[in-house]
Amino acid sequence: MRYDVTVIGSGPGGYVAAIRCSQLGLKTAIIERYQTLGGTCLNVGCIPSKALLDSSEHYYNAAHHFEDHGIATGKLKLDLKKMVARKASVVEQNVKGIDYLMKKNKIDVHHGHGSIASKNEVTVTADNGDKTTIETDKIIIATGSKPTTPPAFNYDKKRVISSTEALNIDVLPKKMIIIGGGVIGLEMGSVFGRLGTEIEVVEYMDRILPTMDKDCAKELQKTMKKMGIKFHTKHKVVDVQSKGKTVTVTVQKRDSEDTFELEADYCLISIGRRPYTDSLGLEDVGIKLDDRGRVEVNDHLQTSVDNIYAIGDVIKGMMLAHKAEDEGVFVAEHIAGEKPHIDYNLIPGVVYTWPEMAGVGITEEEAKERSITVKVGKFPFKALGRARASMDTDGLVKIIADETTDEVLGVHIVGARAADLIMEAVALMEFRATAEDIARICHPHPTYTEAIKEAALAATGNRPIHM
Ligand code: FAD
Repeated sequence: MRYDVTVIGSGPGGYVAAIRCSQLGLKTAIIERYQTLGGTCLNVGCIPSKALLDSSEHYYNAAHHFEDHGIATGKLKLDLKKMVARKASVVEQNVKGIDYLMKKNKIDVHHGHGSIASKNEVTVTADNGDKTTIETDKIIIATGSKPTTPPAFNYDKKRVISSTEALNIDVLPKKMIIIGGGVIGLEMGSVFGRLGTEIEVVEYMDRILPTMDKDCAKELQKTMKKMGIKFHTKHKVVDVQSKGKTVTVTVQKRDSEDTFELEADYCLISIGRRPYTDSLGLEDVGIKLDDRGRVEVNDHLQTSVDNIYAIGDVIKGMMLAHKAEDEGVFVAEHIAGEKPHIDYNLIPGVVYTWPEMAGVGITEEEAKERSITVKVGKFPFKALGRARASMDTDGLVKIIADETTDEVLGVHIVGARAADLIMEAVALMEFRATAEDIARICHPHPTYTEAIKEAALAATGNRPIHM
């Protein structure tokens, strides 16, 4: 077996890289250790979490908002088993879609654990122990990441769980403690909180979503508190013990010796993910890792061995599916001799809570740290006709523009449909729009997009119309 390119890992980085390689005429193989393709994203990440977020949002709206719209439902009944089964069928449709794309693009799929035997050889070990050797000109490492689970948290996958196990809980927990107020913790907390589970989030930093915009994160925390979610910011978890069906979580106040205990049915660990390079044979071929265990790459995403590339969660940068996909295309095109480009400043980040939160470019705090003088325009959703019509008035848009050139450097949104709204900002920032450009673009009425125009008007001389 000889290929131009062999991709290890079939997540959004790996399968997209394989498709683009094939489109460019390269004979391509992909190796996946699990039976289904699609990686974390399709099997235990983006897709299943969004399926449950959507279902739980319907439930929450039916329970809390339908009445305001004049819709009476009678007593609501939750069928969590069915909700989880629907999620599983969404995953199945998506992973089958990847099987189809592999066939369509004539990509050979090898199931088994891939390890790099030499610069030009990859060994695939099947579940039954059978080994196959693939000869290859180029290798792309796209092995992704796994949840970080420190020993003190006693991760047992039963009561002390990660998002992977949380996605399959089909009996509604009474209470869940979430360690980490980041994207995954807040999304999973939203799912169970909306269905009626009591949620307490423990976060070491002084606020949730510490890498995202402060004003938007504050607004989101306020809305989630209204929903009943409790936050212990500036606290850390020092111990987790499970006994039978109960978990005891010991929490310590930051900068203090004071501790207290929380009891719950489940403790969800969501403090981040680690690059996954186990038994990949990197040391044998001399591939270097950085100080955080990520595969080190240069600007062309080549590792320290130049015919071996790495992409996605296993390298530096945001752990996001669309970042992995863009890197997959980038590497395929680089291998084919093209000159691709990725603007890492313009990779949007989204939190699929309700309201949603999304951001692209720099935050106000980053501007300060980097001594960039900026002007800031904000516009609240509550001043928007569209938001009032749907009763989704929590949220705001914040635009950060360069004080001198007026170029938009960051856009941050918390509010209904922020996940989709952010794309206007990404597209315009790719073309280096100014706040004045956005302010002068005609936005359809009534839409949430008007909040972006109004925030741009606020940034360019405090001239919003509806505030
Ligand atoms: P992965 O998707 O992790 O795929 C790696 C694949 O490689 C896996 O299938 C693995 O089995 C395989 N593999 C590993 N080692 C080997 C080996 N040696 N041999 C063979 N196969 C191997 N991102 C977003 O952009 N939007 C979201 O909404 C979002 N939601 C998320 C929700 C959750 C709950 C989680 C956990 C993550 C979410 N993410 C989201 C993150 C996203 O899933 C990852 O950033 C993305 O999957 C990374 O893609 P990847 O291709 O680098 O790796």
